[in-house]
Amino acid sequence: MTKTQSLIRQSKRQVKVGSLTLGGKNPVRVQAMCNTDTRNAQATIKQILALEAAGCEINRIAVPDMDAAKAIGKIKRKIHTPLVADIHFDYKLALEAIKQGIDKIRINPGNIGGADNVRAVVSACKDALVPIRIGVNAGSLKALKTFNGKPNWSDKKWAEVMVNEALAQAELLEKLNFKQYLVSLKSDNLNRTVLACEMFAKVSPAPQHIGLTEAGSFLAGTVKSSIAMSRLLAQGIGATVRISLTEDPKMQVRAAYEILKALKLRQFGPEIISCPTCGRTQVDVAGTVKALEEKIYSDKNLIKLATGKKIAVMGCVVNGPGEARDADFGIAGGIGEGLWFEKGEIKNKIPQKLWIKKIIEEIKK
Ligand code: SF4
Repeated sequence: MTKTQSLIRQSKRQVKVGSLTLGGKNPVRVQAMCNTDTRNAQATIKQILALEAAGCEINRIAVPDMDAAKAIGKIKRKIHTPLVADIHFDYKLALEAIKQGIDKIRINPGNIGGADNVRAVVSACKDALVPIRIGVNAGSLKALKTFNGKPNWSDKKWAEVMVNEALAQAELLEKLNFKQYLVSLKSDNLNRTVLACEMFAKVSPAPQHIGLTEAGSFLAGTVKSSIAMSRLLAQGIGATVRISLTEDPKMQVRAAYEILKALKLRQFGPEIISCPTCGRTQVDVAGTVKALEEKIYSDKNLIKLATGKKIAVMGCVVNGPGEARDADFGIAGGIGEGLWFEKGEIKNKIPQKLWIKKIIEEIKK
């Protein structure tokens, strides 16, 4: 558990995913989903390695067919973090994924063609110590099949239907005495998602994978997800988080950590203090901060070294060093150069083209 983790996690049960244990009092883990074609093992490996460098702790891949399932072994051999196979309907893909060494499968036991198939998957999971995530999404609820169009349900009713479906799926596993499962209850509607996760936490000891689904673009999706996730995490609900964004998957990782950092549940990377710029600004503050973040957050070692440090990038020398007095070190822009300061004390002048280099050197000290 990290030093900053102050909230008591609520799930009573713990689930092992590869080398990580989820639930209980363990840190909330960050995961992302690849958007490469899984059959293209090289492209998938490349993306997972980039996600690992960005701090991703669990990676999920889509497994739509047997070729994708057979690529898992090749992918697993080159990566360092637990891998999850996302499977819909076909239990044979689950069996092949397990054979290939997958660490977890996302599959709904109620949708894989009957009791014999469920038994086969559960038995293989037990033998290989592979947990299952049951994923209930509001848009594909079984109960919706009886409706023409959208039902006129309240958010509470939506949440109840989602929870009932999750419990029915979980029951199939419990009947076979299989308890190594997580559950996710997702919707693109913030309120429905939060209500469903809260209701589920009251009736089930299973750890939850939390997140909204189809949350939207980077900004809109991050804002919406932050509100939903903070409501859940503040109650100790959520063993692992995935922020669904229409963006480079690395940004799912950034967004998840920023939420966990703001809630003081995880430490990850520096705190960068930067001004909004104004009419006094003569330098590219936004470009500097963006370049700095890109450099730090694509290098696991730099992320580690910078964790806990406060770094300032300010637009002018008039107010910059004073307003960023709290920072461990930073730069305040002039014209083509800037003043380097440490704890509010000005040290020397640095040309703008060397700012990032200087900050990185300071992080590495
Ligand atoms: S630090 Fe300087 S440039 Fe930045 S907003 Fe304040 S006054 Fe403007």
